[in-house]
Amino acid sequence: MMITLGQILALLVVLWVSAYKRMRTGTALVAAAVVLVAMSFVWDVAIVPWVLLGLFAVVYFFNDLRKDKITLPIFKLFKSVLPPMNQTEKDALEAGDVWWDGELFKGNPEWSKLLSFPKPELSKEERDFVDNQATKLCEMVDDWKVVHEDKDLPPEAWEYMKKEGFLGMIIPKEYGGKGFSALAHSTVVQKLATRSGSLSVSVMVPNSLGPAELLLHYGTDEQKNHYLPRLAKGEEIPCFALTGPEAGSDAGAIPDTGIICKGEHEGKEVVGIRLNWNKRYITLAPVATVLGLAFKLYDPEGLLGDTEELGITCALIPTDHKGVEVGNRHYPMGQAFMNGPTHGKDVFIPIDWIIGGKDYAGKGWRMLVECLSAGRGISLPSSATATGKLSYRLTGAYSLLRTQFKTSIGHFQGVEEALARIAGNTYQLEAMRIMTAGAVDLSCKPSVVTAIAKYHMTELARSVITDAMDIHGGRGVIMGERNYLSSGYMSMPISITVEGANILTRNLMIFGQGAVRCHPFVFREMQAASNPDEKQGLEEFDSLFFRHVGYGVSNFIRTLTLGLTGARIVKKPVSGKTGRYYQQLTRMSSALAMVSDLSMMIFGGDLKRLERLSARLGDVLSHLYLASTVLKYYEDNGRPESDLPYVDWCVQRSLYEMQKAFLDFFNNLPMKGLGRVLKWMVFPFGTKYKMPNDKLEHTIVKPMMSDNELRDRITLDSYIGESDDDAAGRIENAFKKVLATAPIEKTLRKAMKDGSLTQSRTREETVKTAVAAGILTQEEADQYLDAEAARLDAIQVDDYSKEYIVNGAKNAKKSSQAAA
Ligand SMILES: Cc1cc2nc3c(=O)[nH]c(=O)nc-3n(C[C@H](O)[C@H](O)[C@H](O)COP(=O)(O)OP(=O)(O)OC[C@H]3O[C@@H](n4cnc5c(N)ncnc54)[C@H](O)[C@@H]3O)c2cc1C
Repeated sequence: MMITLGQILALLVVLWVSAYKRMRTGTALVAAAVVLVAMSFVWDVAIVPWVLLGLFAVVYFFNDLRKDKITLPIFKLFKSVLPPMNQTEKDALEAGDVWWDGELFKGNPEWSKLLSFPKPELSKEERDFVDNQATKLCEMVDDWKVVHEDKDLPPEAWEYMKKEGFLGMIIPKEYGGKGFSALAHSTVVQKLATRSGSLSVSVMVPNSLGPAELLLHYGTDEQKNHYLPRLAKGEEIPCFALTGPEAGSDAGAIPDTGIICKGEHEGKEVVGIRLNWNKRYITLAPVATVLGLAFKLYDPEGLLGDTEELGITCALIPTDHKGVEVGNRHYPMGQAFMNGPTHGKDVFIPIDWIIGGKDYAGKGWRMLVECLSAGRGISLPSSATATGKLSYRLTGAYSLLRTQFKTSIGHFQGVEEALARIAGNTYQLEAMRIMTAGAVDLSCKPSVVTAIAKYHMTELARSVITDAMDIHGGRGVIMGERNYLSSGYMSMPISITVEGANILTRNLMIFGQGAVRCHPFVFREMQAASNPDEKQGLEEFDSLFFRHVGYGVSNFIRTLTLGLTGARIVKKPVSGKTGRYYQQLTRMSSALAMVSDLSMMIFGGDLKRLERLSARLGDVLSHLYLASTVLKYYEDNGRPESDLPYVDWCVQRSLYEMQKAFLDFFNNLPMKGLGRVLKWMVFPFGTKYKMPNDKLEHTIVKPMMSDNELRDRITLDSYIGESDDDAAGRIENAFKKVLATAPIEKTLRKAMKDGSLTQSRTREETVKTAVAAGILTQEEADQYLDAEAARLDAIQVDDYSKEYIVNGAKNAKKSSQAAA
């Protein structure tokens, strides 16, 4: 009996270790047999462990038996529970690539891969453009004037944008564009966004999902040669219209139609499309010269072939073409970028206006989702980072300048708590911006990663700007030329809504797409199940399914082992403090792999409907990505000591958020018992991850309120005007002056404390007395009073005449006492 138990135990240990190490099943079985043989020499041969091993071996080695008796029934069941999927959903699912997200999802990330991705960097030409042209464009734009007076960018800014190629950053040089990397594109948009949201959106859209991007990937040579050089020079202003009143998030449901028919174009009868559309919310539509249009294409007369319903198609239409209506404007959150509706009734276009020509009829949806998977990782993440950088730099400075209760408000613990969130989130935003743009530059279109970036970065920016507004109090609320926050605060919901509204992105896309695309087997199993050749499908499914089972067992064993050991047995890919974080992230990744598999097994296609459950698993995947970007950024920057507290803050927050997401998932599982078991497996010794503590938060706030290399690096490529009249420049200059006079302030305080100086009614008088008493030199006194004047100016807000408030710029006398 003891011998049998001992050998069963030995067998289990071998299988456990094999599963943990993810050995191939054949190797694990051989290893187990060797151990049993060795034990038989020492003790007697025990029957039970050999029978158990034999059963495994039969299933593994007897292919036909296994396929017939085990795989076939499972294959049939799998096919019957696969959720029905229309072509639009299929295209969306298949679009884009799997990248680092695949590693995070499968439970045992190879960290060396992450660390070996090249550090994303700007070329010299790109760096010059950011430093010179982007700076000059920022100087040309006064956001208050743009948003509140002109409701448009100044004509000279439009001209400059066109002339310098801002509208053609993604167009290759051979077509006259700048041919910039995704990182450069992102950095330019980010810099512009620190100056004006209306400016950055106007530049962002032609470089994002739209005609240029679609032409580059799918256009015919003729279309590319015609449009790309004109788009690059700004001779054509593009827009792209997908959304309409009935189709927002469910964009695949657009009711706009195109019917293939014969018609007249330029005096000749040609095969073409009769279009009807009604679109809204279209950025740049009011000023566009070329309209990218998505519609559903039908061929009732069979002019193109046998298929009547061809599907979503994209075409390019000059806006001066007969019947195209553009021009009216929406007014999104009071912002001044151009946005409006477009309509067309029975507009006839020739067939070769389809992007890519008639071969691309019906392929529009695939084209759109593929392009979106890259663009979504650039435009909004860049503007979200801009919100972070501006808030970091100016809120830190303001927290020093603004004093209440004779203390800079940043020194109050309550304010420090909000400042810490701004600090940590901004570091996170920059790390994620750079790594995600870097991924696009590796010529991949990582669809899950860009959905994570879009959702989380806009949410982080929303948190940052809310904290910045709270810290500024009335100074943030009162709108005017001096206010550098209110416009960004107002426009925040735009980023939340566009390119996949955030609730949908979190609940439907991140895990929905992630679970299928990043899973090493599910997507291929689905493809095998839909193989029209059933025999071949079964063959493929058999191999995938049993590897999937091995993978599932391995995840189960790994989760338990890593939970019980606190993941200390995982090899650290780097030395130093951050090594421990990689171990903990491996543990969470393994738990995610196990829980995802189990959920897909239990809920099947219903998981898509159970958004609240699946979104929490998406949160775990997202935070694994967030933490990875921070660790990578830290390594890429040469592991600066000063960054370590920021890395700690970000990774600790992500671990805590993962723990919370898991707990919410377990607590809300309909099977309560299973929830409890999973909770124990993932957190066998309880929930240990905590939010960053007060001491750490104090450490990360410190650099915000002083002038140092880290502050400059975190806020690199933000536009801060140099003049004291500039909204941001005023704060920055006052901040530097006040910091420079800190020793003088200290001398005065000391003198007052030891009684050698008495405080007078006004600061000027006190300083005068100090000079008279030889406590300060005249030069120090002048410098101190100058800094004090700058500080006082920095805390002022604007006020305007009644007519100006009522009529805006029109015929109104603008008076601002503060400015005066
Ligand atoms: C300023 C601005 C500029 C834009 N520019 C363009 C452009 O240039 N071209 C273009 O084609 N479109 C553009 N859009 C449209 C934009 O892409 C849509 O607004 C977006 O897709 C959301 O659609 P909707 O506003 O109709 O919201 P709805 O679809 O009505 O959604 C409302 C809410 O329901 C949520 N929701 C919907 N379905 C689900 C689900 N299954 N699960 C969970 N939550 C769900 C959404 O997340 C959202 O919170 C722009 C929009 C704005 C506001």
